[in-house]
Amino acid sequence: MENVIIIGTGPAGYTAAIYAARADLAPLILTGTQPGGQLTTTTDVENFPGFPEGITGPELMVNMQQQAERFGGRVEFAHIDSVVKEDDGTFTLKAGDKTFQTRAVIVCSGASARYLGLPGEEELTKGGHGLTACATCDGAFYRNVPVCVVGGGDSACEEATFLTKFASKVYLIVRRDELRASKIMAQRALEHEKIEVIWNSGIKQYLTNEKGDIRAVELADTQTGDTSELEVEGVFMAIGHTPNSGFLNGMVETDENGYILQKKGTLTSVEGIYAAGDISDTEYRQAITAAGQGCAAAIEVERWLAEQE
Ligand code: NAP
Repeated sequence: MENVIIIGTGPAGYTAAIYAARADLAPLILTGTQPGGQLTTTTDVENFPGFPEGITGPELMVNMQQQAERFGGRVEFAHIDSVVKEDDGTFTLKAGDKTFQTRAVIVCSGASARYLGLPGEEELTKGGHGLTACATCDGAFYRNVPVCVVGGGDSACEEATFLTKFASKVYLIVRRDELRASKIMAQRALEHEKIEVIWNSGIKQYLTNEKGDIRAVELADTQTGDTSELEVEGVFMAIGHTPNSGFLNGMVETDENGYILQKKGTLTSVEGIYAAGDISDTEYRQAITAAGQGCAAAIEVERWLAEQE
């Protein structure tokens, strides 16, 4: 029986782990399918306090993992399928053929990249056929060829700017006539000579070659409906995220989009289950706010467990 299982290894999960480990709770941290979380798919993190010159996302997450392990946190690869509350108030977690038991759970499972829901997306994302949501992971495969990024937020601008290192040309496909991104990120993208914004536009379909790789996209003007073909070999999706709360199967209260509702501090609607980071944050979604919540969740779990004894 574990004291606390932390689900997810983004900034919320690892910060919860550092605090829980230092409180002698020997937390078990389950990685999910994306160890290190979303920051492993970003380039430079310039706004996390303590790194005046910035730090890369992957490096920051490795540092956090090492810090959690240094105090006795145990990290294990597992993707949770279900959580059940037992009659004695403890929890049973299942991940494939593995079963875990714990007194408390901190859900830090974050959010996953969204796609457009067009035909063929599943095949195109598997095996590098030209569709991805991670420029950091896949950008280098698109050297000297044109690519496009879909979206108008900070992620889209950041990915577009990053991709200019490799691609011959980067189109930013924006469904409205303005960007949602912060001024500084937008400016970087708009001023870059390799980036061309295509306003009021959306992808209608992916066009592939005989190998099944993307060779172009069909665009539709969101105002006139006019269509056109844009030659690109890579399509990078940056249209936001969906919270990874499905494995809880309605066990804790969420909002209509699946973001877990925190009832008191980081406590959810179920006693013993806490939530921290992007899984319950529709407002800030920053590494530092996620880390802060992870810290709060660990402190709340520690107090709650002490009260049970
Ligand atoms: P976001 O801010 O929610 O932006 C999503 C973008 O995708 C919006 O431009 C949206 O258009 C567009 N979009 C949504 N659904 C679409 C669809 N079906 N078709 C076409 N376009 C669609 O998401 P994000 O950029 O991933 O950012 C999430 C959070 O992380 C934000 O708080 C952001 O500030 C933060 N972030 C920070 C950094 C950084 O500081 N380094 C980097 C990345 C992200 P509309 O505008 O029309 O809704």
